[in-house]
Amino acid sequence: MIELKLSSEFETALKQIVGDYYVLSSAVDLALYECDAETLDLASPDLVVLPGSTEEVSAVVRLCQRYAVPFTPRGAGTGLSGGATAVCGGVSLVLTRLTRIINIDPAEMVAHVQVGVTNISVSQSAKHYGLNFAPDPSSQAASTIGGNIAENAGGAHTLKYGMTGNNVVGMKMVLPDGEIVTVGGAYRDSLSLDLLGVIVGSEGTLGVVTEAYLRLTPNAEQVETMLAYFPDLESGGQAVSDIIAAGIIPCAMEMIDALSLGCVEQSLHLGLNLSAGALLIVELDGPKAGIDIICRKVEAIAKANNLLEVHWAEDASSRASIWKARKSAFASLGRIAPHGYVLDGVIPRSKLREAIIAIAEIGKKYRLPISNIYHAGDGNLHPALLYDREREAEVQAVLRAAKEILELCVRLGGTLSGEHGIGVEKIQEMPLAFDQASLAAMTSLKNSFDPQLICNPGKVIPNLKHCGESGSRSLLRHQLSAC
Ligand SMILES: Cc1cc2nc3c(=O)[nH]c(=O)nc-3n(C[C@H](O)[C@H](O)[C@H](O)COP(=O)(O)OP(=O)(O)OC[C@H]3O[C@@H](n4cnc5c(N)ncnc54)[C@H](O)[C@@H]3O)c2cc1C
Repeated sequence: MIELKLSSEFETALKQIVGDYYVLSSAVDLALYECDAETLDLASPDLVVLPGSTEEVSAVVRLCQRYAVPFTPRGAGTGLSGGATAVCGGVSLVLTRLTRIINIDPAEMVAHVQVGVTNISVSQSAKHYGLNFAPDPSSQAASTIGGNIAENAGGAHTLKYGMTGNNVVGMKMVLPDGEIVTVGGAYRDSLSLDLLGVIVGSEGTLGVVTEAYLRLTPNAEQVETMLAYFPDLESGGQAVSDIIAAGIIPCAMEMIDALSLGCVEQSLHLGLNLSAGALLIVELDGPKAGIDIICRKVEAIAKANNLLEVHWAEDASSRASIWKARKSAFASLGRIAPHGYVLDGVIPRSKLREAIIAIAEIGKKYRLPISNIYHAGDGNLHPALLYDREREAEVQAVLRAAKEILELCVRLGGTLSGEHGIGVEKIQEMPLAFDQASLAAMTSLKNSFDPQLICNPGKVIPNLKHCGESGSRSLLRHQLSAC
């Protein structure tokens, strides 16, 4: 285990760059940055730094390079794979002071922003022009554009409008040696090597993004939202497959199981039907003309799949309360257990039924409550394994069950992550989805950006020797040797 000791000279130099106030070093402050929303893996950084400009980020990174100090970029810390957790210690480089919406260009339909802005504030700023930023993770009120880019975040409306990567046209970033570069263009993808494609989704391992040019989408003329109850997830899942098979592409299809439904109702008192086994939200958007015909088709498909009850949102406020149910669902699970380990496996939509049944079996085997709230239209599952981190046996059970679920996803033809990234959480499972040659190609790419391996080390690409080597901090998963 390497214990990193940062010199007082290093700390003084950091303070000269960003000002004393923006370098945090007290035990209490550091504890606030010891994890993201994946709370099983805890590792405190040695220092927290909050730069206020691209130039300051560059100077901090250059300093880290000179002293060979690892740094971990961080936005709001809502990530669910431990990506922003400083597993090798060093500096937690927090971007939340970069909150300027620099420009909204309605003619080009592009927003130019600093990366510390929250996802939702981009759409709020573009609303005036009848535009929005389509990727809408459920964490959108808190998560930052930088974190969204790093994780290639999705959301309920990804089914029709794509992931973050489909909606970013350019960015400014600081490379791990401190150099400031522009990737892509201000208005459209540039015709060069697709470095945007390399950076988006690289989980802060190839540099620090400081500004982004985001593609905006015109608000739809008409939006219709259906709330449909089914006796079980299987019936709802079949309705999802049948809707797509009928050639209909809703902008969202989201499923919530009975366990989660109960928690949401206890938290928000929305009058949800608790006798149902599954709740499916289907949202359709487009031109006014003809949308009612598509709504009727969708409802008919739901009826053919054991529909129990259906409601259509009558106005913006009833639509908002339907989405509130979905977007608060994870937080409400705190009513069952103090911790949740949220997985992010992807499977082909046609395998939804098989996957849901197998996940329930895994939950029984390890005696863990597992909630299922997922982007059904994308086959992106989020089983949340509910547990108490203070109970070692439960943590062991979570790690084993999580591994089995990821193995299941890969076996069914899917993969390890749809939107939350690999981080430290799934690093040991990478060989399930990628062969040695592919992992070697990823390693070469990482080395060419970051030969010193100081930019978010211990993430995404596994050190294949043994599982304790992914970070120099002793993580609970390593102590339990469960991986
Ligand atoms: C309740 C809840 C619901 C969620 N729902 C969704 C969802 O629907 N869809 C979805 O995709 N995700 C979802 N997430 C996960 C999370 O919100 C996203 O991954 C989000 O993109 C993380 O943003 P952040 O600002 O919190 O980033 P952080 O958690 O701070 O960081 C995430 C990763 O990005 C890197 N990073 C952060 N900023 C930068 C930067 N400027 N430059 C380079 N690297 C950077 C970090 O190093 C880390 O690897 C949810 C999380 C929660 C808690």
